[in-house]
Amino acid sequence: MLKPNPHFNRLQKNPIFVDIEEEKKKFKGTLVDLGVGDVSKPLAPAIIEALTAGCREMGKRPIGYGPSTGYDFLREAIFEKEYKNFGFTQDNIFISDGINTDVTHLFALFGDDIAIGIPDPGYPAYKAAAIVAGYEKIFYLPCTAETGFLPRPPSQDLDLIILCSPHNPTGVAFTKEELKEWVLYAQERKALILYDSAYASFMDEPFNVYEIDGACEVIIEMKSFSKSYGFTGLRCSYTVVPMEPYRTLWERHQNVMYNGLSYPVQKAAYTALSLPLTEVADYKHSGRLLREELEAQNQEFVGGLDAPYIWWKVPEGETSFSFFQFLLHKCALLAIPGTGFGIHGEGYVRLSTFTSEPERAIAHLRRGLCVSM
Ligand code: PLP
Repeated sequence: MLKPNPHFNRLQKNPIFVDIEEEKKKFKGTLVDLGVGDVSKPLAPAIIEALTAGCREMGKRPIGYGPSTGYDFLREAIFEKEYKNFGFTQDNIFISDGINTDVTHLFALFGDDIAIGIPDPGYPAYKAAAIVAGYEKIFYLPCTAETGFLPRPPSQDLDLIILCSPHNPTGVAFTKEELKEWVLYAQERKALILYDSAYASFMDEPFNVYEIDGACEVIIEMKSFSKSYGFTGLRCSYTVVPMEPYRTLWERHQNVMYNGLSYPVQKAAYTALSLPLTEVADYKHSGRLLREELEAQNQEFVGGLDAPYIWWKVPEGETSFSFFQFLLHKCALLAIPGTGFGIHGEGYVRLSTFTSEPERAIAHLRRGLCVSM
């Protein structure tokens, strides 16, 4: 047996997820699942049509390896739709198969002695990717009630920071002014920000991060078709790397390590760009209904407006996990304990609003909360 990459040994499955699985096994009955952050609606017919048209085209003429940076038709369409006003070109946009992949690969670009800042609570893949990349100096940036549920620039020097807005799991988004503080921090410290915009299309008042002065020098944006157009099973994302030398470095990386995303999927993504965000509107509607119910029940929470997540403060005397158990067994409702996203998630549970049946979720909540609280 070959010796495995030693960094893999530093990866631990968060024990909370093992406990969640154990607890789910104990539950007998029909659950409303507000746990998983995955889409619950099928792909739009126009996307299926574009995907199958792409396959048919491949049956008529040979379409082999595409450009590892993505086809020009997609890069150009993204550029025209979102980035044409910021002084860079479509050559700064790179197509890939998911933010998860992009984060892991971007982390691999840098020396492992850098100091990296990761939000806590935050999307668990960041920590895993940082560990596998071999980083030892990992600093957790608290996203608590005191920080407005988002990470704030720390006093210490960091070289690389990953930010996510709207934030998973708290569902809160940066304003332009708040993001400006991060841009200034990065400019002063010569740091680089990886900005995860997976949920940008859920924002009530969306803005482009590059509208902020100086952002083009310090922010690499990562965007995905996953949550906006239901591509979690199809896979397509893009990174925007406006600055040198990182643009060239990333292009080099993609040329060496990645042979490009499949042609039909890029065709489907191209079509998706011109579609209305119908499913997002439905998930946002579910979020509003769930928020109204929690408000009516005098519950404390944030999120659910700019993102498909509600971050719900657990009642006095409960922990994240005990309240998760309560919701499971008394309300037949699956949430995620906040500690699944980091130690600063204690005291909260996350509800996903990616549900097609908010009314059922509300009926379950009402029954459980009214009976037991
Ligand atoms: N970023 C965040 C914050 C997420 O919550 C998720 C998935 O839940 C992803 C990225 C994954 O995106 P993709 O499907 O593009 O890999």
